[in-house]
Amino acid sequence: MDQDAYEKICSVCGRPESVAGKLMRLPMNMYLCPECMDKTADMIESQMGNMNGAGAIDWKKVMGMYGGPMANAEKTNQELIKPEDDNNRGDAEKSDKDLKESGDEKEENKKASQTGPKVNFIDLTGLPFDFGFGGRPKVKKKKEGEYTPLLKLKDIPAPHKIKEMLDEYVVGQEQAKKVMSVAVYNHYKRVATRTMDEIEIEKSNMLMLGPTGCGKTYLVRTLARILKVPLAVTDATTLTEAGYIGDDIESVLSKLLAAADNDVEKAEQGIVYIDEIDKIAKKQNTNSRDVSGESVQQGLLKLLEGADIEVPVGSSSKNAMVPTTSVNTRNILFICGGAFPGIEEIIKKRLNRSSSIGFHGEVRDPEEKDLTILKEVETEDIRKFGMIPEFVGRLPMVFALEGLDKDMMIRILKEPKNAILKQYQKLLELDEVRLIFDDDALELIAEKALKKETGARALRSILDEYMVDIMYEIPKDKNIGTVTITREYLEKTGGPKIELRTL
Ligand code: ADP
Repeated sequence: MDQDAYEKICSVCGRPESVAGKLMRLPMNMYLCPECMDKTADMIESQMGNMNGAGAIDWKKVMGMYGGPMANAEKTNQELIKPEDDNNRGDAEKSDKDLKESGDEKEENKKASQTGPKVNFIDLTGLPFDFGFGGRPKVKKKKEGEYTPLLKLKDIPAPHKIKEMLDEYVVGQEQAKKVMSVAVYNHYKRVATRTMDEIEIEKSNMLMLGPTGCGKTYLVRTLARILKVPLAVTDATTLTEAGYIGDDIESVLSKLLAAADNDVEKAEQGIVYIDEIDKIAKKQNTNSRDVSGESVQQGLLKLLEGADIEVPVGSSSKNAMVPTTSVNTRNILFICGGAFPGIEEIIKKRLNRSSSIGFHGEVRDPEEKDLTILKEVETEDIRKFGMIPEFVGRLPMVFALEGLDKDMMIRILKEPKNAILKQYQKLLELDEVRLIFDDDALELIAEKALKKETGARALRSILDEYMVDIMYEIPKDKNIGTVTITREYLEKTGGPKIELRTL
């Protein structure tokens, strides 16, 4: 990592060197700005002033703080650092020479340290505020006037290529994959060519609806991996209005910054996925202050539309001790997802109403399966659900994912590049054992998973449970060549089919 490209940050007030002025280096990779140094010295003075013989010490002088803001900070720093302190040798050696040259000053400091206790006795851990021992995060500066797109125009895969890559991992969800491929392609094309400014309104932020475990997060994760862009996945339920218990809205960007190795320019071209967005719908009929619903939507607006946001680095909330940096969200792609329970009713009502008026020819069956009704979702329904119009307006791409049925569950077990079955097969292959699953065994696993109502998430735990004995027993017998998992074995009415190796 290019360390020089990262800006130092004051360990107390969190301001970067470019704002706070020349920083003084302290042990353990900490830095102090002139202002905080001043305050620290005042505090030490007031705390130490009453000590025997120490009252006469001018602490600011000892710390080399006269003669312009931190004029000698780096030099005096060397006095503060014990020579045997290896951690602090980095910058130290460079200014050793300077130190010798500043003879007068050294003499003065020497005198000061002779009259009072040695300066390096100062134990920063004893001070009543957090210095962030263990090192503060550093943020990579953006180079003025320079712009490096993460994806160059020629490197952005065409929508059909993106979809093909998604197909390798995500089963079904054809429409969602198509919409996302096009939206992401257009988005990164604009980012690469810097045409976002002109067509700000058309930013391809997305809103995905779909029952839990149907692959919303998985789709976004796969997408970010394919495109090699930083991704932050966050949960809207943890967000609250600033000042309340919970994460500040800016924490969403802190995560993205962390995912981009604290490189601001990289983070500014990343993807943010906010899950459970339906949980911040406007609370109906409530008298209490809505700090986690509508106000969070309001707070997210500025992020979605593109603004410079002060982001805490390495923390989920802003406070005086946490360094911050400015992140522009104009090129960040925001994808929100949620199950929106009950929205089917809103959609059905709208469809029935419009069909009875006669706009839509077909009359809907009121018993129509909810899985397909979700596909008809429109922004109007989302608004009725409790999302504020401004919020919905900033998520122009609205689409639904299908709920998973038995067939899809079985396909998820078998087909993706990293399918769970493939993983088990690979493991046993290393023992030169072939693992086969009977179709009706897979059906049973899918049926059990459906009952749990957590989508495909349940598949892994169910299969893991069944496979423990197999994975334990098989390596015992070196003669086993093939194991077939049968439905009877899963139902505990029989065993797996075992074939021995043919020599
Ligand atoms: P949610 O829709 O609640 O965000 P996830 O995306 O977290 O659900 O899905 C949970 C897990 O289920 C994923 O990690 C993935 O392994 C699996 N999964 C869900 N849907 C699919 C799918 N359509 N294709 C492949 N795997 C899937």
